[in-house]
Amino acid sequence: MKAPIFLKPIFHEKIWGGTRLQDKYGYDIPSCRTGECWAISAHPNGANIVRNGPYEGLTLAELWQNHPELFGHFKSDRFPLLTKIIDANDDLSVQVHPDDEYARTNENGELGKTECWYIIDCEEGAEIIFGHHAQTKEEFASMVEEGRWNDLLQRVPIAPGDFFYVPSGTLHALCKGTFVLETQQSSDITYRVYDYDRRDQDGNKRELHLEKALAVTIVPHTHQKAEPAIMKTKQFAITTFVEERYFTVYKWDVHEELNMIQEKPFLLASVIDGQGVLHTEDSRNALQKGDHFILPYELGSFSIKGEIQLIVSHP
Ligand code: ZN
Repeated sequence: MKAPIFLKPIFHEKIWGGTRLQDKYGYDIPSCRTGECWAISAHPNGANIVRNGPYEGLTLAELWQNHPELFGHFKSDRFPLLTKIIDANDDLSVQVHPDDEYARTNENGELGKTECWYIIDCEEGAEIIFGHHAQTKEEFASMVEEGRWNDLLQRVPIAPGDFFYVPSGTLHALCKGTFVLETQQSSDITYRVYDYDRRDQDGNKRELHLEKALAVTIVPHTHQKAEPAIMKTKQFAITTFVEERYFTVYKWDVHEELNMIQEKPFLLASVIDGQGVLHTEDSRNALQKGDHFILPYELGSFSIKGEIQLIVSHP
């Protein structure tokens, strides 16, 4: 099929969520504590439903199982990636995710979670927690035990347009006032290290997972910062933020027109700003911010016209 596959977003309420998903993208959110939009997901905790074309009404998980030809017969027992938009109206817990091997053994065959963030927008002076200052696991454990969070946690200032690659084992937290597009492995395993002693409406604190967190956190923190590669013409710019084991992530900035041939097994695309039109051999679709779609295998040539920005990824 030489046409894009559009997906309906799914929303998850969170203690730290807000209303930006409605304010910015016009989504019909369930409450004023909506933290996550699962935009392109086949994960059992939230699989998106196709909203157009011959596969309308199927979940992405069903599509992956029953129509491998759409994904170039990509070798994986499940759809490997998950795209989210996150509204951190308050600080997220300080957390870490396991790698594939640890998750397979300790979390019923889940994938590990390497993720990355494109900062769509943030408040003036916003920060994230990215890494830590402990030199050994013993030091890490005692800083956690003694609650020496200011000594332990590494804070990094952020600005709109920044990109962070967050391999499994990296201690991290998105902080208040951050609006992010996350591309990650299709996994929902989080080990919480610190939740600011917050309580929910019922007075309960969320569970911490200190033992597992200590087992998977990389100590000392390591960080390789890759410079993004940018290819620019008058009509568009393509930025490659990361090309790693689990995913490659790009930003497409279209000013007039982008013409391409879809040569990957499949692409995940999210419109983060602007509007335009996507033409393929068999279809024509208006695009606007907040749209999410897959460009399947053998889509062939396509064009995007307009003034529009997308985050695009493939495994
Ligand atoms: Zn995370």
